[in-house]
Amino acid sequence: MAKIQWSIAATEALKADGLRIAELDTAGTPGFPGDKKAGQELLAERAEVLSSLQERLYANGRSGDSRNVLLVLQGMDTSGKGGIVRHVIGSVDPQGVDHAAFGVPTAQEKRHHYLWRIRKALPRGGQLGVFDRSHYEDVLVVRVHNLVPEAEWEPRYDEINAFERELVDAGTTLVKVAMFVSLGEQKKRLRERLDRPDKYWKFNPSDIDERAYWPAYQEAYQAMLDRTSTDYARWHVIPADHKWYARLAVTELLIEALIQLKLDWPPAKFDVEEQKRRLAES
Ligand code: AMP
Ligand code: MG
Repeated sequence: MAKIQWSIAATEALKADGLRIAELDTAGTPGFPGDKKAGQELLAERAEVLSSLQERLYANGRSGDSRNVLLVLQGMDTSGKGGIVRHVIGSVDPQGVDHAAFGVPTAQEKRHHYLWRIRKALPRGGQLGVFDRSHYEDVLVVRVHNLVPEAEWEPRYDEINAFERELVDAGTTLVKVAMFVSLGEQKKRLRERLDRPDKYWKFNPSDIDERAYWPAYQEAYQAMLDRTSTDYARWHVIPADHKWYARLAVTELLIEALIQLKLDWPPAKFDVEEQKRRLAES
């Protein structure tokens, strides 16, 4: 039986433009009419497509192509960013992946501009870069907790847009993904971290304190979407209560981004016939 497919392109179904996150159904599956089983079946197939496209990107990078793709993952604790890294990025060849996670800045990082550590982690040509949190923390957690005065974080939206323009001009395709779970789903996931010894390592007592700031985070996320979703680096909003859906959605967004690059296999830099003859004679 044919697999259930997306009813519209994922980029279209998930676009942030005009979206109010306070009204988002975090348990929704926009653009995909199937259930979990159908989603997982399609994901198995699409993961192979992603892997093959990523191999082309990598092959072109090895041949000197400077283009790359950078997946930027943002979302509250337990929204499933780590699961995307394991299950979506995990389906491609690790040698072609540049992964970076951004936590509380170290003492050294604090001495620099907030984009300093970001620039250092940018993917090279041919790589699929993944940022688990990013420069956007500097207008999210920083804004919510007044880690710097408003006069300092306010200009960052424009500065980030200019920074991303620069990346795009240099050959990067940005795939920006904001993942949202409901407050109730987060409680369930935090509880699971406390119930399972194999999940204690993910738990941070301060995650519970952060829940009190939920409305402030919603506001900061909304401002981020409103002010930094540009025509060259759009935000996508992923309802993430269903992990299977979030994984399927991000896989699809990456596939669509890679298809846009129209990647062919790089041509041989040698005479194939001549090399066949030499091999036969060897
Ligand atoms: P986790 O992703 O669970 O490892 O947590 C990383 C933590 O680092 C989160 O609580 C983030 O809010 C925090 N973090 C990331 N970037 C920054 C930043 N620029 N300033 C302050 N906290 C940050
Ligand atoms: Mg955490």
